[in-house]
Amino acid sequence: MKQIFMDYANATPCDSRVLEAMLPYFIEKFGNPSSHIITKGNEALSALDNSRKIVADFIGAKFEEIIFTSGATEANNLALKGYAFANQHRGKHIITTEIEHFSITSPLRTLERLFGFEVTYLPVDSFGFVSPDELKKSLRNETILVSIQLANNEIGTVQDLKELISVVKENSSAVFHSDATAGCGFIDINVSELNIDLLTLSPTSLYGPKGVGALFVKNGLVLQPLIEGGFQEGGLRSGTENLPAIVGFAKACELGKIEMSDRCNYLKPLRNRLWEGIEKNIDFVHFTGHPEKRLPNNVSFWIEFAEGESLLLMLNYMGVMASSGSACSSNLRGKSEDDLVASPVLTAIGVPKDICTGSLTFSLGMSNTIEEIDYVLQIFPGIVNRLWQMSPFYLDKIKGHTPKLTKVDK
Ligand code: PMP
Repeated sequence: MKQIFMDYANATPCDSRVLEAMLPYFIEKFGNPSSHIITKGNEALSALDNSRKIVADFIGAKFEEIIFTSGATEANNLALKGYAFANQHRGKHIITTEIEHFSITSPLRTLERLFGFEVTYLPVDSFGFVSPDELKKSLRNETILVSIQLANNEIGTVQDLKELISVVKENSSAVFHSDATAGCGFIDINVSELNIDLLTLSPTSLYGPKGVGALFVKNGLVLQPLIEGGFQEGGLRSGTENLPAIVGFAKACELGKIEMSDRCNYLKPLRNRLWEGIEKNIDFVHFTGHPEKRLPNNVSFWIEFAEGESLLLMLNYMGVMASSGSACSSNLRGKSEDDLVASPVLTAIGVPKDICTGSLTFSLGMSNTIEEIDYVLQIFPGIVNRLWQMSPFYLDKIKGHTPKLTKVDK
């Protein structure tokens, strides 16, 4: 059976050019950058410096403003807890949104629970946008930090960060952090143009390796390190650097910079074909996220009376891998083991809980083809139909209504 991967928001394969750049750092160039007095260490330090420069260039930052971490999760933790711990004398109020990744909301909950911070979780509209007015209203004298994602990995909505940052800068002395994990492979970021203070980067959407990420920390900001010991990364993140992964991350940024617009131009028509095909052939579909201001590879939606998790499993059975915005697939369950809960993102955009227990996200990548999109369009209506036939709510709903679903599963 064909294996069709459409979950690139959660994992991208390493680009072969990235892998090639990494390989020497496993065997020949295995030195430790901290032992740079000896030749092997010096060779490693040069590679580390070169990688830092490339990642800095990728977002228009300065060399010393890039701190390598073990991934976006750690970078988000460092940005939030690190800034909060070091600056709590200025205030203990932080603002974020209801649709952030758990690596933002979990450390914030810890700051609330254990360290006496107060966090405002801004609501979003039905597309997932934060309102600049709401943001302005929630700023206080004691607000020290605002964290709003660049793009949402589940529903694909891309925020207007420039506008949100200017609201914060014009009305407060708070610093602005953004988790750019889901967007940095598709959206050209320039930290000085944006006037941003802290930015989380990851090679997840750039065909780079896993287990590496970076935090941009604007010169002059003070953060409390969370991992202490060896004084690597300017003392902000101790521990011997994962040099092969860092070299790969840099190569992925270098290639991403050059190929970003070609990648977007390849992915957008595929995304639109999938979107339009689903819209045309399946009834009771509700697309999520903004139709235009969205990631070029993201199609996300929910279907009345069809559980996200079940759609995901049945698609997987037919060789198609996507992801679901129901909590089971994200390691979060309801009160009982069998109790599926919709993701906080779906709840925040106002998806009704009684008729939706999860959405489906197709996130496309450079190896997807038109034929693959057409295969999904061919099998998907049958899958939905099969689930509907098991739902008493659906059978009730269609009394006296002819669904537009026409194709039948083979
Ligand atoms: N932020 C966002 C928006 C994500 O989608 C993810 C997961 N891909 C993360 C942070 C965490 O990334 P990681 O697991 O690589 O640390």
